[in-house]
Amino acid sequence: MDYFARPLSALIEEFAKLPGIGKKTAQRLAFHVLNMNNEDANSFVKSIINAKKNIKYCSNCFNLTDIDPCKICSSKKRDDSIICVVEDPKDIVAMERTRDFNGLYHVLHGSISPMEGIGPDEIKIKELLNRLKDDKVKELILATNPNIEGEATAMYIGKLVKPMGIKTTRIAHGIPVGGDLEYADEVTLAKALEGRREF
Ligand SMILES: [Zn+2]
Repeated sequence: MDYFARPLSALIEEFAKLPGIGKKTAQRLAFHVLNMNNEDANSFVKSIINAKKNIKYCSNCFNLTDIDPCKICSSKKRDDSIICVVEDPKDIVAMERTRDFNGLYHVLHGSISPMEGIGPDEIKIKELLNRLKDDKVKELILATNPNIEGEATAMYIGKLVKPMGIKTTRIAHGIPVGGDLEYADEVTLAKALEGRREF
């Protein structure tokens, strides 16, 4: 079974654990690493260790950050009366690319999914409600993914927030149903943001 020397097959196994990497690609990447000069290989390893050590969740919005609160939360230029709720830190990158949003974010780190046993307590909903207590927030944009789980999550949050007198909107137009926010292009996402409707 083991055609490769042990250290090499260990490296292949590590690459194969990465998302979207099959056995063949894992082998190709491992061979590529072997052909790297020492300096490049060391800097590759160092960036993995550095990212793991220094990237944390922002204690306010739960975005990935190396400073706490994160750059967006601590910026004086951002409008702290509006929060855009997303499922994943990658969605923030997508939203920022549109340059159409100047509020703050809240990352849920998932969506409610009874099928996978993920309830409201497993994602950062409690933390979101805590942020709404100081009356600063006037609008919540629910930008969860337009699939069953994302819709259910938006609905759940909408119901909780409505009695608090905060305007709740849902992005709708342009994002294909079943689609992923992360993969929407800037124009589509900007349109979706513009065409948000009240919940
Ligand atoms: Zn933050």
